[in-house]
Amino acid sequence: MARVLHIVGAGMAGSEAAWQAAEMGVPVVLHEMRPRVETFAHRTGLFAEMVCSNSFRSDDDERNAVGLLHWEMRAAGGLLMEMAAAHRLPAGGALAVDRDAFAESVTARLREHPLVSVSEEEVTTLPSDGDWIVATGPLTSSALAESIRAVTGAASLAFFDAIAPIVHADSIDMSVAWRQSRYDKGETEDERTAYINCPMNRAQYEAFIDALLAAEKTVFHEGETAGYFDGCLPIEVMAERGRETLRHGPMKPVGLTNAHDPQEKAYAVVQLRRDNKLGTLYNIVGFQTKMKYGAQTAVFRTIPGLQNASFARLGGIHRNTFLNSPTLLDAQMRLKLRPNIRFAGQVTGVEGYVESAAMGLLAGRMAAAEILGRELPPPPPETAMGALVTHITGGAEAKTFQPMNVNFGLFPPIDAKGGRRGRKDRYKAYTDRAKAAFAEWLGA
Ligand SMILES: Cc1cc2nc3c(=O)[nH]c(=O)nc-3n(C[C@H](O)[C@H](O)[C@H](O)COP(=O)(O)OP(=O)(O)OC[C@H]3O[C@@H](n4cnc5c(N)ncnc54)[C@H](O)[C@@H]3O)c2cc1C
Repeated sequence: MARVLHIVGAGMAGSEAAWQAAEMGVPVVLHEMRPRVETFAHRTGLFAEMVCSNSFRSDDDERNAVGLLHWEMRAAGGLLMEMAAAHRLPAGGALAVDRDAFAESVTARLREHPLVSVSEEEVTTLPSDGDWIVATGPLTSSALAESIRAVTGAASLAFFDAIAPIVHADSIDMSVAWRQSRYDKGETEDERTAYINCPMNRAQYEAFIDALLAAEKTVFHEGETAGYFDGCLPIEVMAERGRETLRHGPMKPVGLTNAHDPQEKAYAVVQLRRDNKLGTLYNIVGFQTKMKYGAQTAVFRTIPGLQNASFARLGGIHRNTFLNSPTLLDAQMRLKLRPNIRFAGQVTGVEGYVESAAMGLLAGRMAAAEILGRELPPPPPETAMGALVTHITGGAEAKTFQPMNVNFGLFPPIDAKGGRRGRKDRYKAYTDRAKAAFAEWLGA
């Protein structure tokens, strides 16, 4: 009997994975719990339902990393991009769709596929044999989440995203900031300089606290935050508890000497920690926040050294089940502890419809290739899909791993030797390089 691929979850990732595997000739059983078991965000029993915005973001495949991911998915015969094109709505440079028509057409195409069958049930335990892809998303059902936890260990599955903002390293003003770990801790020079420090004097700190308190905040959806606040407080909540709280918490100035002016004692220090092996991204330590995006950019750019900061992603807090993929998954997206299971989509620690669908596309192809007795290497890291999968399967720092959108900071740098291209030209160089590498990977 032909080997069957089981896919759990018919969201963005599971739908695309099922399509890719079936198109490669592998029979698929797609297990989807809706509409029998609901989540707090989905409204229908349709596959690939967009739970919030109806946009797949920028469609600019020359100068935008998400647009490049669109291009790669189209090149790979992606079902979601084909259906998005069929139900596109006018939205400037963004790829926005009629969400119901889009989800209906994805559902119909999969249900009609001769190699796809659908099982309308909740999968409650992590299977120990057979070929599986788990693509159950940020709202993975509790029973399955518990089972994943039991197999992988309590610390390896998170239930909330408490994201600190991530800054592109080359946008930090190093004539103000300096590299140093607190108390120069670390065995190697690399560790002793693992942090970037931004100093504040008293007036700057007071103004920063005022701005935090005044900033517009996101209001939580009921049920999204239960139990959250024991873990990890948003900075504005810390500031509400007392004006000095942050100065005694993530912004404490101790154990640091200003490299530009060793006599100058900072009143508070904002620290950024390296976020990827390439050293192109830094997260602001302890700065998880509920501030709205516009407010975040304005408030964080008041930090000395970050006045021109460009953000790879802004902070946020919401319900999100995701694995510590850098420690748990191999380069083939397989669970190291149970290699018969792959993970795909947002549960692997990517963020967004497009990124999730792209990781579904890859997992579907890799699983189908394995079933067919072939091995499919991951796409090279110069491509958008390759950069993302490299990040989640080992490129990201496991200790601080947080869900990630695709962005050029994940790609091997292009102007490493200090070339002086404008940002737009640099992005075009990234996408040109990616397209050539992706076409070669597809043809191999
Ligand atoms: C409230 C909310 C708002 C969001 N807004 C946006 C946005 O505006 N833009 C954006 O890009 N991203 C947004 N996201 C992130 C978005 O969820 C993901 O980008 C995307 O949907 C993830 O794709 P996925 O396939 O990994 O998960 P999903 O699309 O959520 O699909 C997972 C599927 O698995 C099913 N499932 C779960 N557990 C089981 C089980 N045990 N057995 C069987 N089936 C199961 C679910 O019913 C679901 O159909 C939002 C997320 C949330 C929670």
